[in-house]
Amino acid sequence: MRNGHTHLFVPGPTNVPDSVRRAMNVAMQDMRAPDFGDLTLGLFEGMKSVLRTETGEVMFFPGSGTGAWEAAISNTLNPGDKVLMARNGQFSSLWVEMALRLGLEVEVVDVPWGAGMPVTEFSRLLGQDKHDEIKAVFVTHNETATGVASDVAAVRHALDENFHDALLFVDGVSSVGSLEFNMDAWEVDLVVTGSQKGLMLPAGLGILGVSEKALEAAKTSKMRRAYFEFSDMLKMNADGYFPYTPPTQLFHGLRQSLDLLNAEGLDNVIARHHRLAEGIRRGVAAWGLSLVAEHHTLYSDTVSAIRVPRDIDARDVLRIAYEDFNTSFGSGLGPLAGKVFRIGHLGDLNEAMCLTALSVAEMALFRAGVSLQLGSGVGAAQAWYAQQDQMRPMLRVAAE
Ligand SMILES: *Cc1c(COP(=O)(O)O)cnc(C)c1O
Repeated sequence: MRNGHTHLFVPGPTNVPDSVRRAMNVAMQDMRAPDFGDLTLGLFEGMKSVLRTETGEVMFFPGSGTGAWEAAISNTLNPGDKVLMARNGQFSSLWVEMALRLGLEVEVVDVPWGAGMPVTEFSRLLGQDKHDEIKAVFVTHNETATGVASDVAAVRHALDENFHDALLFVDGVSSVGSLEFNMDAWEVDLVVTGSQKGLMLPAGLGILGVSEKALEAAKTSKMRRAYFEFSDMLKMNADGYFPYTPPTQLFHGLRQSLDLLNAEGLDNVIARHHRLAEGIRRGVAAWGLSLVAEHHTLYSDTVSAIRVPRDIDARDVLRIAYEDFNTSFGSGLGPLAGKVFRIGHLGDLNEAMCLTALSVAEMALFRAGVSLQLGSGVGAAQAWYAQQDQMRPMLRVAAE
Protein backbone atom coordinates (compact mmCIF):
# COMPACT_ATOMS: atom_id res chain seq x y z
CA MET A 1 0.00 0.00 0.00
CA ARG A 2 1.51 3.30 -1.07
CA ASN A 3 0.39 6.87 -0.69
CA GLY A 4 -0.61 9.22 -3.47
CA HIS A 5 -1.19 8.63 -7.16
CA THR A 6 0.16 5.80 -9.18
CA HIS A 7 1.42 6.89 -12.57
CA LEU A 8 0.71 5.13 -15.82
CA PHE A 9 3.05 5.84 -18.70
CA VAL A 10 2.56 2.70 -20.74
CA PRO A 11 1.51 3.21 -24.36
CA GLY A 12 -1.88 1.65 -23.71
CA PRO A 13 -4.01 1.27 -21.79
CA THR A 14 -3.69 5.02 -21.38
CA ASN A 15 -5.04 7.21 -18.62
CA VAL A 16 -8.83 7.56 -18.71
CA PRO A 17 -10.00 11.14 -17.99
CA ASP A 18 -12.24 11.48 -14.91
CA SER A 19 -15.12 12.80 -17.02
CA VAL A 20 -14.93 9.67 -19.21
CA ARG A 21 -14.93 7.40 -16.17
CA ARG A 22 -17.94 9.21 -14.78
CA ALA A 23 -19.74 9.03 -18.12
CA MET A 24 -19.42 5.25 -18.04
CA ASN A 25 -20.98 4.94 -14.61
CA VAL A 26 -24.57 4.53 -15.79
CA ALA A 27 -27.25 1.93 -15.23
CA MET A 28 -27.60 -0.90 -17.72
CA GLN A 29 -29.98 -0.03 -20.49
CA ASP A 30 -32.13 -1.74 -23.07
CA MET A 31 -30.06 -2.35 -26.19
CA ARG A 32 -33.27 -2.74 -28.22
CA ALA A 33 -35.03 0.35 -26.88
CA PRO A 34 -36.51 2.62 -29.56
CA ASP A 35 -34.17 5.46 -28.55
CA PHE A 36 -30.94 3.41 -28.32
CA GLY A 37 -29.77 5.04 -31.56
CA ASP A 38 -29.71 8.42 -29.80
CA LEU A 39 -26.58 7.15 -28.04
CA THR A 40 -24.98 5.13 -30.82
CA LEU A 41 -25.65 6.88 -34.14
CA GLY A 42 -23.57 9.92 -33.20
CA LEU A 43 -20.64 7.66 -32.32
CA PHE A 44 -20.30 6.44 -35.89
CA GLU A 45 -20.26 10.04 -37.10
CA GLY A 46 -17.84 11.16 -34.37
CA MET A 47 -15.46 8.32 -35.12
CA LYS A 48 -15.58 9.14 -38.82
CA SER A 49 -14.35 12.66 -38.03
CA VAL A 50 -11.49 11.25 -35.96
CA LEU A 51 -10.50 9.03 -38.91
CA ARG A 52 -11.12 11.94 -41.29
CA THR A 53 -13.41 10.00 -43.56
CA GLU A 54 -16.70 10.95 -45.13
CA THR A 55 -17.03 8.04 -47.51
CA GLY A 56 -15.94 5.19 -45.21
CA GLU A 57 -17.98 3.20 -42.70
CA VAL A 58 -17.09 2.84 -39.03
CA MET A 59 -17.67 -0.41 -37.15
CA PHE A 60 -17.28 -1.20 -33.46
CA PHE A 61 -16.67 -4.82 -32.50
CA PRO A 62 -16.42 -5.77 -28.85
CA GLY A 63 -12.81 -6.91 -28.64
CA SER A 64 -9.40 -5.29 -28.75
CA GLY A 65 -7.34 -3.96 -31.63
CA THR A 66 -6.22 -7.49 -32.45
CA GLY A 67 -9.86 -8.53 -32.93
CA ALA A 68 -10.33 -5.65 -35.35
CA TRP A 69 -7.26 -6.86 -37.30
CA GLU A 70 -8.98 -10.22 -37.66
CA ALA A 71 -12.25 -8.62 -38.73
CA ALA A 72 -10.44 -6.56 -41.38
CA ILE A 73 -8.61 -9.51 -42.89
CA SER A 74 -11.37 -12.10 -42.73
CA ASN A 75 -14.02 -9.88 -44.35
CA THR A 76 -12.08 -8.64 -47.34
CA LEU A 77 -9.52 -11.25 -48.47
CA ASN A 78 -9.61 -14.83 -49.73
CA PRO A 79 -7.76 -17.92 -48.51
CA GLY A 80 -4.29 -18.06 -50.07
CA ASP A 81 -4.30 -14.41 -51.16
CA LYS A 82 -0.88 -12.88 -51.42
CA VAL A 83 -0.34 -9.81 -49.22
CA LEU A 84 2.63 -7.50 -48.71
CA MET A 85 3.71 -6.79 -45.14
CA ALA A 86 6.77 -5.50 -43.28
CA ARG A 87 8.20 -6.32 -39.88
CA ASN A 88 9.80 -3.43 -38.01
CA GLY A 89 8.78 -4.31 -34.46
CA GLN A 90 6.62 -6.48 -32.23
CA PHE A 91 3.20 -5.35 -33.45
CA SER A 92 3.97 -5.58 -37.15
CA SER A 93 5.45 -9.05 -36.44
CA LEU A 94 2.25 -10.14 -34.70
CA TRP A 95 0.22 -8.87 -37.64
CA VAL A 96 2.28 -11.04 -40.00
CA GLU A 97 1.73 -13.97 -37.63
CA MET A 98 -2.03 -13.43 -37.73
CA ALA A 99 -2.10 -13.19 -41.53
CA LEU A 100 -0.25 -16.52 -41.73
CA ARG A 101 -2.61 -18.14 -39.23
CA LEU A 102 -5.58 -16.98 -41.27
CA GLY A 103 -4.15 -18.65 -44.35
CA LEU A 104 -2.75 -15.75 -46.37
CA GLU A 105 0.44 -16.00 -48.36
CA VAL A 106 2.57 -13.27 -46.87
CA GLU A 107 5.43 -11.58 -48.67
CA VAL A 108 7.36 -10.21 -45.70
CA VAL A 109 9.92 -7.44 -45.90
CA ASP A 110 12.09 -7.50 -42.79
CA VAL A 111 13.74 -4.26 -41.77
CA PRO A 112 15.64 -3.40 -38.57
CA TRP A 113 13.56 -2.69 -35.49
CA GLY A 114 13.85 1.08 -35.40
CA ALA A 115 13.30 1.57 -39.15
CA GLY A 116 10.04 2.69 -40.74
CA MET A 117 7.91 0.94 -43.35
CA PRO A 118 10.15 0.07 -46.34
CA VAL A 119 8.32 2.21 -48.87
CA THR A 120 10.96 1.93 -51.61
CA GLU A 121 11.01 -1.86 -51.36
CA PHE A 122 7.20 -1.94 -51.30
CA SER A 123 7.18 0.15 -54.46
CA ARG A 124 9.68 -2.16 -56.16
CA LEU A 125 7.66 -5.28 -55.27
CA LEU A 126 4.40 -3.66 -56.39
CA GLY A 127 6.04 -2.64 -59.67
CA GLN A 128 7.17 -6.25 -60.26
CA ASP A 129 3.69 -7.61 -59.56
CA LYS A 130 2.48 -7.43 -63.15
CA HIS A 131 -0.46 -9.80 -62.63
CA ASP A 132 -1.82 -8.05 -59.53
CA GLU A 133 -1.21 -11.06 -57.31
CA ILE A 134 -0.74 -8.85 -54.26
CA LYS A 135 -4.23 -8.23 -52.89
CA ALA A 136 -3.36 -6.00 -49.93
CA VAL A 137 -0.50 -3.94 -48.50
CA PHE A 138 -0.29 -3.68 -44.72
CA VAL A 139 1.16 -0.66 -42.94
CA THR A 140 1.83 -0.31 -39.23
CA HIS A 141 1.37 3.44 -38.88
CA ASN A 142 2.95 3.64 -35.44
CA GLU A 143 5.07 0.69 -34.30
CA THR A 144 4.48 0.90 -30.56
CA ALA A 145 7.39 -1.41 -29.68
CA THR A 146 10.03 0.86 -31.21
CA GLY A 147 8.44 4.31 -31.18
CA VAL A 148 8.53 4.58 -34.97
CA ALA A 149 5.87 6.40 -36.99
CA SER A 150 5.74 5.53 -40.69
CA ASP A 151 4.54 7.51 -43.67
CA VAL A 152 1.19 6.07 -44.74
CA ALA A 153 0.76 8.64 -47.52
CA ALA A 154 4.06 7.47 -49.05
CA VAL A 155 2.75 3.89 -49.23
CA ARG A 156 -0.41 5.17 -50.93
CA HIS A 157 1.86 6.99 -53.37
CA ALA A 158 3.85 3.77 -54.00
CA LEU A 159 0.60 1.97 -54.88
CA ASP A 160 -0.56 4.76 -57.18
CA GLU A 161 2.73 5.23 -59.02
CA ASN A 162 2.69 1.52 -59.83
CA PHE A 163 -0.97 1.68 -60.88
CA HIS A 164 -1.60 -1.07 -58.32
CA ASP A 165 -5.11 -1.75 -56.98
CA ALA A 166 -4.22 -3.68 -53.81
CA LEU A 167 -6.18 -2.77 -50.69
CA LEU A 168 -4.34 -0.56 -48.19
CA PHE A 169 -4.62 -1.82 -44.59
CA VAL A 170 -3.37 0.38 -41.74
CA ASP A 171 -2.79 -0.55 -38.11
CA GLY A 172 -3.65 2.72 -36.42
CA VAL A 173 -4.00 1.34 -32.91
CA SER A 174 -1.43 3.69 -31.35
CA SER A 175 -1.86 6.57 -33.79
CA VAL A 176 -5.55 7.25 -34.42
CA GLY A 177 -6.73 10.19 -32.30
CA SER A 178 -3.12 11.21 -31.50
CA LEU A 179 -1.14 11.48 -34.75
CA GLU A 180 -2.16 12.93 -38.09
CA PHE A 181 -4.27 10.28 -39.78
CA ASN A 182 -6.28 10.93 -42.90
CA MET A 183 -8.30 7.98 -44.14
CA ASP A 184 -9.87 9.64 -47.19
CA ALA A 185 -6.88 11.68 -48.35
CA TRP A 186 -4.58 8.65 -48.07
CA GLU A 187 -7.25 6.36 -49.54
CA VAL A 188 -6.88 3.88 -46.72
CA ASP A 189 -9.18 0.88 -47.22
CA LEU A 190 -9.12 -0.62 -43.74
CA VAL A 191 -7.89 1.14 -40.64
CA VAL A 192 -7.94 -0.59 -37.30
CA THR A 193 -7.76 0.87 -33.82
CA GLY A 194 -8.68 0.04 -30.24
CA SER A 195 -10.40 1.98 -27.49
CA GLN A 196 -7.57 2.00 -24.95
CA LYS A 197 -4.98 4.22 -26.60
CA GLY A 198 -5.60 7.61 -28.21
CA LEU A 199 -9.31 7.38 -27.44
CA MET A 200 -8.60 7.34 -23.68
CA LEU A 201 -11.04 4.52 -22.84
CA PRO A 202 -10.71 1.13 -21.21
CA ALA A 203 -9.88 -1.74 -23.56
CA GLY A 204 -12.89 -3.47 -25.10
CA LEU A 205 -13.71 -1.91 -28.45
CA GLY A 206 -12.04 -2.92 -31.69
CA ILE A 207 -12.74 -0.11 -34.13
CA LEU A 208 -12.58 -0.21 -37.92
CA GLY A 209 -12.75 2.34 -40.67
CA VAL A 210 -13.75 0.60 -43.90
CA SER A 211 -13.64 2.20 -47.35
CA GLU A 212 -16.20 1.70 -50.13
CA LYS A 213 -13.61 -0.32 -52.01
CA ALA A 214 -13.11 -2.61 -49.00
CA LEU A 215 -16.88 -3.05 -48.64
CA GLU A 216 -16.99 -4.03 -52.30
CA ALA A 217 -14.22 -6.59 -51.69
CA ALA A 218 -16.20 -7.93 -48.72
CA LYS A 219 -19.03 -8.95 -51.06
CA THR A 220 -16.85 -11.61 -52.73
CA SER A 221 -14.49 -12.48 -49.86
CA LYS A 222 -14.57 -16.20 -49.12
CA MET A 223 -12.58 -16.26 -45.94
CA ARG A 224 -14.33 -17.99 -43.05
CA ARG A 225 -15.81 -15.68 -40.47
CA ALA A 226 -18.81 -15.74 -38.19
CA TYR A 227 -18.79 -13.32 -35.28
CA PHE A 228 -16.86 -10.68 -37.23
CA GLU A 229 -19.21 -10.60 -40.25
CA PHE A 230 -19.30 -7.03 -41.60
CA SER A 231 -22.71 -7.39 -43.29
CA ASP A 232 -24.47 -8.48 -40.07
CA MET A 233 -22.94 -5.51 -38.31
CA LEU A 234 -23.78 -2.96 -40.99
CA LYS A 235 -27.37 -4.09 -41.31
CA MET A 236 -28.05 -3.49 -37.62
CA ASN A 237 -25.84 -0.40 -37.32
CA ALA A 238 -27.91 1.47 -39.87
CA ASP A 239 -30.51 2.17 -37.15
CA GLY A 240 -28.03 2.30 -34.29
CA TYR A 241 -28.37 -1.33 -33.18
CA PHE A 242 -25.95 -4.23 -32.95
CA PRO A 243 -26.23 -7.90 -33.87
CA TYR A 244 -24.88 -8.93 -30.45
CA THR A 245 -24.97 -7.33 -27.00
CA PRO A 246 -22.92 -4.13 -27.32
CA PRO A 247 -20.73 -2.72 -24.50
CA THR A 248 -23.03 0.20 -23.70
CA GLN A 249 -20.77 1.57 -20.94
CA LEU A 250 -17.91 1.93 -23.39
CA PHE A 251 -20.22 3.75 -25.77
CA HIS A 252 -21.06 6.29 -23.07
CA GLY A 253 -17.34 6.67 -22.43
CA LEU A 254 -16.66 7.06 -26.15
CA ARG A 255 -19.31 9.78 -26.40
CA GLN A 256 -17.44 11.73 -23.75
CA SER A 257 -13.96 11.12 -25.19
CA LEU A 258 -15.15 12.20 -28.65
CA ASP A 259 -16.58 15.34 -27.04
CA LEU A 260 -13.22 16.00 -25.37
CA LEU A 261 -11.35 15.56 -28.66
CA ASN A 262 -13.85 17.84 -30.42
CA ALA A 263 -13.65 20.52 -27.75
CA GLU A 264 -9.87 20.60 -27.99
CA GLY A 265 -9.95 20.23 -31.78
CA LEU A 266 -8.25 17.29 -33.49
CA ASP A 267 -5.49 19.50 -34.91
CA ASN A 268 -4.75 20.82 -31.44
CA VAL A 269 -4.74 17.29 -30.02
CA ILE A 270 -2.17 16.29 -32.63
CA ALA A 271 -0.09 19.41 -31.97
CA ARG A 272 -0.22 18.71 -28.22
CA HIS A 273 1.10 15.20 -28.75
CA HIS A 274 3.98 16.63 -30.76
CA ARG A 275 4.78 19.29 -28.19
CA LEU A 276 4.71 16.83 -25.28
CA ALA A 277 6.72 14.18 -27.16
CA GLU A 278 9.42 16.69 -28.05
CA GLY A 279 9.92 17.47 -24.36
CA ILE A 280 10.35 13.76 -23.62
CA ARG A 281 12.87 13.44 -26.45
CA ARG A 282 14.86 16.44 -25.22
CA GLY A 283 14.96 14.84 -21.78
CA VAL A 284 16.26 11.56 -23.21
CA ALA A 285 18.93 13.39 -25.20
CA ALA A 286 20.04 15.26 -22.06
CA TRP A 287 20.61 11.92 -20.32
CA GLY A 288 22.92 10.94 -23.16
CA LEU A 289 20.65 8.03 -24.12
CA SER A 290 19.26 7.28 -27.55
CA LEU A 291 15.95 6.23 -28.99
CA VAL A 292 15.32 3.00 -30.89
CA ALA A 293 13.90 5.02 -33.82
CA GLU A 294 16.76 5.31 -36.32
CA HIS A 295 16.11 8.81 -37.58
CA HIS A 296 14.37 11.93 -36.35
CA THR A 297 11.86 11.77 -39.21
CA LEU A 298 10.59 8.49 -37.71
CA TYR A 299 10.11 9.69 -34.14
CA SER A 300 6.70 8.78 -32.79
CA ASP A 301 4.75 11.45 -30.94
CA THR A 302 2.89 8.79 -28.92
CA VAL A 303 5.64 6.56 -27.52
CA SER A 304 9.40 6.75 -27.06
CA ALA A 305 11.48 3.56 -26.83
CA ILE A 306 14.68 4.41 -24.96
CA ARG A 307 17.85 2.31 -25.06
CA VAL A 308 19.67 1.89 -21.74
CA PRO A 309 23.48 1.54 -21.66
CA ARG A 310 24.74 -1.96 -22.52
CA ASP A 311 25.80 -2.86 -18.97
CA ILE A 312 22.33 -2.02 -17.55
CA ASP A 313 19.23 -4.23 -17.58
CA ALA A 314 16.18 -2.16 -18.55
CA ARG A 315 14.03 -4.57 -16.51
CA ASP A 316 15.71 -3.16 -13.38
CA VAL A 317 14.72 0.34 -14.45
CA LEU A 318 11.10 -0.79 -14.88
CA ARG A 319 11.05 -2.63 -11.54
CA ILE A 320 12.55 0.29 -9.60
CA ALA A 321 10.12 2.75 -11.18
CA TYR A 322 7.21 0.50 -10.27
CA GLU A 323 8.22 -0.63 -6.80
CA ASP A 324 9.94 2.48 -5.50
CA PHE A 325 8.11 5.25 -7.33
CA ASN A 326 4.59 3.99 -8.13
CA THR A 327 5.17 4.44 -11.82
CA SER A 328 4.70 2.15 -14.81
CA PHE A 329 6.69 2.49 -18.00
CA GLY A 330 6.43 0.19 -21.00
CA SER A 331 8.81 -2.75 -21.21
CA GLY A 332 11.10 -3.70 -24.07
CA LEU A 333 9.22 -6.19 -26.25
CA GLY A 334 10.63 -9.26 -27.99
CA PRO A 335 14.33 -8.85 -28.78
CA LEU A 336 14.31 -5.43 -27.08
CA ALA A 337 13.53 -6.95 -23.65
CA GLY A 338 16.11 -5.77 -21.12
CA LYS A 339 17.58 -3.30 -23.59
CA VAL A 340 14.79 -0.77 -23.77
CA PHE A 341 12.13 0.88 -21.69
CA ARG A 342 9.30 2.89 -23.21
CA ILE A 343 7.51 6.04 -22.15
CA GLY A 344 3.97 6.17 -23.48
CA HIS A 345 2.95 9.79 -24.09
CA LEU A 346 -0.48 9.60 -25.64
CA GLY A 347 -4.04 10.29 -24.69
CA ASP A 348 -5.04 12.37 -21.70
CA LEU A 349 -1.66 13.96 -20.98
CA ASN A 350 -0.09 17.29 -20.15
CA GLU A 351 3.31 18.88 -19.51
CA ALA A 352 3.29 18.21 -15.77
CA MET A 353 2.65 14.51 -16.37
CA CYS A 354 5.54 14.32 -18.85
CA LEU A 355 7.83 16.02 -16.33
CA THR A 356 6.77 13.44 -13.75
CA ALA A 357 7.58 10.63 -16.18
CA LEU A 358 11.03 12.07 -16.88
CA SER A 359 11.70 12.73 -13.22
CA VAL A 360 10.84 9.17 -12.18
CA ALA A 361 12.70 7.70 -15.16
CA GLU A 362 15.88 9.49 -14.24
CA MET A 363 15.67 8.38 -10.62
CA ALA A 364 15.07 4.77 -11.71
CA LEU A 365 17.90 4.94 -14.26
CA PHE A 366 20.17 6.42 -11.59
CA ARG A 367 19.34 3.70 -9.06
CA ALA A 368 19.79 1.03 -11.72
CA GLY A 369 23.36 2.27 -12.18
CA VAL A 370 23.18 4.60 -15.17
CA SER A 371 25.48 7.56 -14.75
CA LEU A 372 23.43 10.62 -15.41
CA GLN A 373 22.93 14.03 -13.87
CA LEU A 374 19.73 14.00 -11.83
CA GLY A 375 17.45 16.73 -13.11
CA SER A 376 19.12 16.95 -16.50
CA GLY A 377 16.24 15.40 -18.44
CA VAL A 378 13.60 17.25 -16.49
CA GLY A 379 15.49 20.51 -17.01
CA ALA A 380 15.76 20.01 -20.76
CA ALA A 381 12.04 19.27 -21.02
CA GLN A 382 11.16 22.23 -18.79
CA ALA A 383 13.23 24.51 -21.01
CA TRP A 384 11.24 23.27 -24.03
CA TYR A 385 7.80 23.39 -22.41
CA ALA A 386 8.42 26.81 -20.91
CA GLN A 387 8.93 28.24 -24.42
CA GLN A 388 5.85 26.72 -25.98
CA ASP A 389 2.49 28.30 -26.58
CA GLN A 390 0.17 26.02 -24.67
CA MET A 391 -2.81 26.69 -26.96
CA ARG A 392 -5.75 26.49 -24.63
CA PRO A 393 -8.63 26.24 -27.10
CA MET A 394 -11.34 25.85 -24.47
CA LEU A 395 -10.21 28.84 -22.44
CA ARG A 396 -9.85 30.84 -25.62
CA VAL A 397 -13.36 30.00 -26.73
CA ALA A 398 -14.65 31.00 -23.30
CA ALA A 399 -12.87 34.36 -23.52
CA GLU A 400 -14.24 35.23 -26.96
C1 LIG B 1 -1.69 -1.99 -28.78
C2 LIG B 1 -1.43 -2.29 -30.19
C3 LIG B 1 -1.99 -3.39 -30.83
C4 LIG B 1 -2.76 -4.44 -30.11
O1 LIG B 1 -3.96 -3.98 -29.70
P1 LIG B 1 -4.82 -4.78 -28.61
O2 LIG B 1 -5.89 -3.80 -28.35
O3 LIG B 1 -3.92 -5.04 -27.45
O4 LIG B 1 -5.29 -6.02 -29.25
C5 LIG B 1 -1.79 -3.55 -32.18
N1 LIG B 1 -1.03 -2.69 -32.87
C6 LIG B 1 -0.43 -1.63 -32.31
C7 LIG B 1 0.39 -0.71 -33.14
C8 LIG B 1 -0.61 -1.40 -30.95
O5 LIG B 1 -0.04 -0.35 -30.37
